[in-house]
Amino acid sequence: MSPAKKTPKKPDLLWKRENAWPTLKKTEKRAVEEYCRNYIGFLSAAKTERKAYAISVAEAEKRGFVSLEKIQAEGRCLEPGMKIYRGCREKTLLLAVVGEEPLEAGLHIVGGHIDSPRLDAKPYPLYEDAELALLDTHYYGGIKKYQWVAMPLALHGVVVKQNGDKVEISIGEDPSDPVFVITDLLPHLGKEQAKKTLSEGITGEGLNVLFGSLPSTDKDAKEKVKANVLSLLHDTYGIVEEDFASAELELVPAGPARELGLDRSMILGYGHDDRVCAYGGLQALFDLKETPRHTAIVLLCDKEEIGSVGATGMDSTFFENSIAEMIALEEGGFSGLTLRRCLESSRMLSADVNMLHDPLYADVSSPNNTAKMNGGVVLAKYTGSRGKSGSSEASAEFMADLRRVFNEAKVVWQTGELGKVDGGGGGTIAMFLARYGMDVVDCGVGLLSMHAPWEVASKLDTYMAYKAYKAFLADRR
Ligand code: MN
Ligand code: MN
Repeated sequence: MSPAKKTPKKPDLLWKRENAWPTLKKTEKRAVEEYCRNYIGFLSAAKTERKAYAISVAEAEKRGFVSLEKIQAEGRCLEPGMKIYRGCREKTLLLAVVGEEPLEAGLHIVGGHIDSPRLDAKPYPLYEDAELALLDTHYYGGIKKYQWVAMPLALHGVVVKQNGDKVEISIGEDPSDPVFVITDLLPHLGKEQAKKTLSEGITGEGLNVLFGSLPSTDKDAKEKVKANVLSLLHDTYGIVEEDFASAELELVPAGPARELGLDRSMILGYGHDDRVCAYGGLQALFDLKETPRHTAIVLLCDKEEIGSVGATGMDSTFFENSIAEMIALEEGGFSGLTLRRCLESSRMLSADVNMLHDPLYADVSSPNNTAKMNGGVVLAKYTGSRGKSGSSEASAEFMADLRRVFNEAKVVWQTGELGKVDGGGGGTIAMFLARYGMDVVDCGVGLLSMHAPWEVASKLDTYMAYKAYKAFLADRR
């Protein structure tokens, strides 16, 4: 008998896209749990962009990160392995681990945002009506207004007095704290309300927060309940009503993030968008084992939810200025051409959340292209809407290289698309970096109930985003 001829084995022809839990080894499952435990702690504490900023700076300093201003003041130069950060108005943060190559060779950037949809107190918020004290708000970011009534709210933020003194306010997170609420109509009398559309039933101007009901004992006070609230605010924080004009007070869902599901496989929390990716980028940078070849940058920015505008948004020159300051600390000093070359040679993961297929709302999904829960971190080659309009689409070459990075590091990943064609769309900070000519792609955690007061993320996907960011920042090609 002659030996059978061996035909070369074909590679896996099918791309398996399935729930990845069964593929995880025991040690990795433990890593997922530990990572998510820490993330739940972060998310529960970082209820505003200022808090996310403060926690991130404190954690960075613990790990040896030094402010760029300090390095400048000491007259030091950038050296490979150096850990630095630069902040902008306590709301936007850039962190870096200096690489072996000069900055001109380009950066590896992971950029997320730390602002989330919420209700902001207006500059003249406090009023009394029907002997109740109420707080007038203006919503921030894309919310469905009806979701914000009849649920406990916490108040966080700063009040800056005329002399510059800053008072921090945080009420409603400790179980012993009071909370606040926007009342809804009783169903018995809600017949007319029920006829309205979801977007008209509760209006933006109607989002007024119940703040107090106890009248002041001051006989001369006209509006006694408001007077009593002002008196309490003065006793506790030393503020007067005019101080509201120079305040940033945010009303957010009260209480911590929680494990979700009988099997505890998911996380329910306020502000996954986009603190889930911001935290992943931050931890990835902290956990880099070696000095990277290319300088690794993590951006935690503000104002993404209202279009990245303003001094602390990604559309400002903060990022560019920061890189210019870094180049100035390199051998040879600052040159505009070096800055241009650095930016153009860079590559970036725009670390923002994506949507997951939701069987309750299946008709908005693209049958095969919407990301699925537990399918891993989501790579979105393009966002935009109606003919990819407004998208900074990533190139096939960049996508191919990311496949290499993720597959070599055993990152569970999938592709995603924000809904079916012509169904809607959205944008991220990707386009503000793409204009420098760098490679950019959206890469983040898929969510259910995005922009709702409580959003849903899977633990596996949450962990895989971190793993993806780490592999990308450490990649030596
Ligand atoms: Mn986002
Ligand atoms: Mn968003």
